[in-house]
Amino acid sequence: LEFAAPWISGLTPYVPGKPLSELERELGIQDAVKLASNENPLGPGPKARAALAEALAEVGRYPDGGGFELRRALAEHHGLPPQAVTLGNGSNDVLDLIARTFLHPGAESVFSEYAFAVYPIATQSVGATARIAPARDYGHDLEAISRLINEQTRVVWIANPNNPTGTWLAAETLRAFIGSLPKTCIVVVDEAYTEYVEAPDFPDATHWLATFPNLIVTRTFSKVHGLAGLRVGYALSDPAIAELLNRVRQPFNVNSLAQAAAIAALSDREHVRASVELNRAGMRQFTQAFAELGISYIPSVGNFITIDCGRFAGPINESLLKRGIIVRPVGNYGLPNHLRVSVGLESENARCIAALAEVLG
Ligand code: PMP
Repeated sequence: LEFAAPWISGLTPYVPGKPLSELERELGIQDAVKLASNENPLGPGPKARAALAEALAEVGRYPDGGGFELRRALAEHHGLPPQAVTLGNGSNDVLDLIARTFLHPGAESVFSEYAFAVYPIATQSVGATARIAPARDYGHDLEAISRLINEQTRVVWIANPNNPTGTWLAAETLRAFIGSLPKTCIVVVDEAYTEYVEAPDFPDATHWLATFPNLIVTRTFSKVHGLAGLRVGYALSDPAIAELLNRVRQPFNVNSLAQAAAIAALSDREHVRASVELNRAGMRQFTQAFAELGISYIPSVGNFITIDCGRFAGPINESLLKRGIIVRPVGNYGLPNHLRVSVGLESENARCIAALAEVLG
């Protein structure tokens, strides 16, 4: 297949975990704990579940290809015009739309070491070049990122907070960085985990859209809203950018169940509150246990925490799997000694902690 686009052969695929049922079959167990994909352990809230049940009656029809109601609801939620919204099949799809719209062979994108794995894939799949800045304390080093920006740079990817490190950038720092960028460079602030962050100087970059015409903020319904399986995310931007992204977007990229559930989820403040609270308690449960067990970790503001095993994490991961605990090795992020653990229900966290104590002890 040497006639494939030349940049595809150099592309490292995103390797998803095995399906839960397959793992359970292999391991001969039935109650595996999956803390591997930063999902909401509560799943969807009651409003989204009710909307889904209702929307089922209409699945024989195509979804609204323009996502009229969902875009209107999101616009209202963020105090922006509907023309500022671009819908995606998960926010990964939006990241891909951004790459297809602004990158091309000869163009460059810049992001940090240990940044979210989809940035290199989106960049390389359109033949553009990824430039990777060294991290500082596992987090984004904006000065190092700035040093890589040149006339070819078209996109800078910033995850705030970042996955898999859980590190974050404060409002003033990030705002100054965005203001320093050339206007011919799109800056994507990926806010997939924003709802979980409680630090007072953590920014909501959507507030800066009026100031920076080259800013795109991405959000998702996969995390705090518990709709990962439905695949729905979105970008907020200047309407001129959204108009370009929507030219590239496949019609019907967000299915009708996802649209209905997302609209309902957006209004379910109680579910968001309960999910954030559960995460806060779970994060405390993990960090207290790690302190007691002497397990070092990267402090995280997300719904996951990445531990440092102090040695190659592969065998440790295998031992956890044998105990029915599924976490995420992050060697593909350049962190071969680390494992990322998503915060689950209290009982799930407890089983994970007990297994870690055995395996690392
Ligand atoms: N951005 C970041 C930083 C993420 O961690 C994820 C999920 N792993 C996504 C985007 C994509 O999520 P989704 O496609 O489910 O919206």
